[in-house]
Amino acid sequence: MIERRKTRQVVLGDDAHGYVRIGGDAPVSVQTMTAGYTWDIDACIAEINKLAAAGADIVRVAVPEKKDTEALKEIIPAVKVPIVADVHFHFQRALDAVEAGIHKIRLNPGNISDRKQVQEVIAACKSRNIPIRVGVNEGSIVERKDKQKRLKELGGVFSDNRHGHFLAIMITKLEEYLDIFYESDFYDIVISAKSTDPVLAIDAYTEISKRFDHPLHLGITHAGPRETAMIRSCVPLGHLLAAGIGDTIRLSYASDPVFEVEDGLEMLYCLNLRQRKGVDLIACPTCGRIQVDLFTLVQDVRRKLAEEIKLPIKVAVMGCIVNGPGEAEGADVAIFAGDRRGIIYVQGEKVANVPEEKILDSLLDECRKFEDRVNRGEAKLGEKKVDIIPPDPIGELGSGFDKIAAGDVEKPTSARLTDLTISKT
Ligand code: SF4
Repeated sequence: MIERRKTRQVVLGDDAHGYVRIGGDAPVSVQTMTAGYTWDIDACIAEINKLAAAGADIVRVAVPEKKDTEALKEIIPAVKVPIVADVHFHFQRALDAVEAGIHKIRLNPGNISDRKQVQEVIAACKSRNIPIRVGVNEGSIVERKDKQKRLKELGGVFSDNRHGHFLAIMITKLEEYLDIFYESDFYDIVISAKSTDPVLAIDAYTEISKRFDHPLHLGITHAGPRETAMIRSCVPLGHLLAAGIGDTIRLSYASDPVFEVEDGLEMLYCLNLRQRKGVDLIACPTCGRIQVDLFTLVQDVRRKLAEEIKLPIKVAVMGCIVNGPGEAEGADVAIFAGDRRGIIYVQGEKVANVPEEKILDSLLDECRKFEDRVNRGEAKLGEKKVDIIPPDPIGELGSGFDKIAAGDVEKPTSARLTDLTISKT
């Protein structure tokens, strides 16, 4: 069990959009940001709804122009999740967003630092119980307007201790900025300290978590394309979350934000920080023993199960019986492949032995039937009835030890084995 750091809880939302609690004993929430223009009202509503359907608890939108905050008046009533306005440079956009019924504001001390302007935004949010995220991003934290100050700060950035210097600037500016909020007796604050450098982000969030009790919004900013951004984000965020630090997360991909939501949720499921929705799929990586096109099968199984199965059924797709039974321990539904066929088990009981082309349909069918039984109270998730007895490789799976020993095992030749992508479509 991960012991989470205690933070001062903030709440955003309303009856129409639901309430999301951040910090305290609330589950770690997942947020993302629309990639399209906010002023493009119908497209923005469609994107928010798509992200909410993927599991986003909170969706942020950019409001760089007046037409964006005007659009919020139509967008907010048309969606079902709390919406955050991302405000840069123009404090007036924050005031407009509050007027439009926004649920949370994001401000950046690097971009709006005028004390009076910040106080105006705080007063507007306070009057409506709207929380504010203070984001001290590495990319915008160095002074830009005051040339003398900028030169001094850049001197440190280009020094040998770039890492320590950035940390010092981020924390100092955060402290200075938060003072404006405290002076206004405003504490509905969430803090973020994003960087593209995962190690800097770990150190920044760790230091901030020691100094402030406000909930933390974790993220690695501008992390890159999904293929690399996933690792760049999940390594540091997973490290922080496992240490109990972090109350809400956003992965930042140069890709469809639906992936940010799916991957963020998967990370939280892996750490037992959220209760899984839908199937928990494990699969073997395959090796020289494989005799079916397992990679394709796994992708098909993953896509179909995500569409159909709502319960967190644990499903194992194993390429053979060598390690399959042991590694499928605890799976509710498991398939072990052999020579162009597969044997399916449900909670330890063998239920089918089918040729390769029928594995997908049979497995889906068994998952559906199992889900129905759980829903009727006739079965329980994770409750194995009997130990899996490995199938007979000679008779049942057709890949006899003698065939394997003689090198007589036909391998799948499908081009798809060498042409796989991680596309989710
Ligand atoms: S389950 Fe069998 S095919 Fe899959 S990796 Fe393990 S030994 Fe190889």
